[in-house]
Amino acid sequence: MSNLDPDPHETISGGRVGVATEPVRELLEGRDVVLGGTRGMSVVRTLPNKERRMVGAWCFVDSFGPESVNGGPGMRVAPHPHTGLQTVTWLVQGEVLHRDSLANQQLIHPGQLNLMTAGRGISHAEESPTGHGPVLQGVQLWVALPDEHRGVAPEFDHHRDLPELVDGGVRVRVLIGELGGALAGQGSPARAYSPIVGAEVAFDRDAETRLSLEPDFEYAAVTLSGAIEVDRVLLSPGSLLYLGCGRVDLALRADQPGRLLLLGGEPFDEEIIMWWNFIGRSHDEIVRAREDWMAGRGFGEVRGYDGGPLPAPAMPTSTLKPRGRLR
Ligand code: MN
Repeated sequence: MSNLDPDPHETISGGRVGVATEPVRELLEGRDVVLGGTRGMSVVRTLPNKERRMVGAWCFVDSFGPESVNGGPGMRVAPHPHTGLQTVTWLVQGEVLHRDSLANQQLIHPGQLNLMTAGRGISHAEESPTGHGPVLQGVQLWVALPDEHRGVAPEFDHHRDLPELVDGGVRVRVLIGELGGALAGQGSPARAYSPIVGAEVAFDRDAETRLSLEPDFEYAAVTLSGAIEVDRVLLSPGSLLYLGCGRVDLALRADQPGRLLLLGGEPFDEEIIMWWNFIGRSHDEIVRAREDWMAGRGFGEVRGYDGGPLPAPAMPTSTLKPRGRLR
């Protein structure tokens, strides 16, 4: 998806300042994003948040739906660019058709992973396919690429068979990275460029489980559906629970069916600048990426989408500078 905020601001994210080195339970409210490009979709952004910008290399968490797309076009996100990040598309209900400038065309269903590595530049479009189901629900996540890898060639991967652990009424599917404990060795085949993990925990009924965590990682949880108790905090959709570092495990419990996304990673040392769909290290770099997109340079062409590309919003007039590498 595109960052559909019609008036995006530059955001500085990353760096060790503010990382909780001990376990914490910070409940952070998401915000409704004013839609610029799609119809019939509500989006809640829990990351970046006013209080917290990143969790490991995870730097963007947008949840959409559940939304009725019955009898309508559904999702229609026109061709738009990305740099310096990976996009993770994960559905709870419905389906989305992805097309990109590398000529990939991929339909995604719930339980499958679309991972697009923008690297130095890619463009893509996402839409509900013809004959789509009545309801659409999912998340779009971004992973910041470390400086040494952010210039890699763009790539798109679709993973339909992710490792899954079943523990009673709980199913854990690892999207990226790996979980320890009973899931040790069952890493996701998805390519990561920094130490991170993303996993979906699905409760089929009232149940509880305990996940092994990596003490050096920081973690956060986002509920996709239902209400899940995370370390004794009841977490509903629309908020992100930041959990800090220093945990060896995490207790999860639910009274009803529900789904939770666990995100974690080594705190991201580098400060990054996010603006619209670009991640860079300087304001000038973002300005250049915007100019290239508007001039039709460097991002290839998405074929098959019924409509023109998304124009970039106007750049904000203020200039941001990251403070550079910390630690
Ligand atoms: Mn996108």
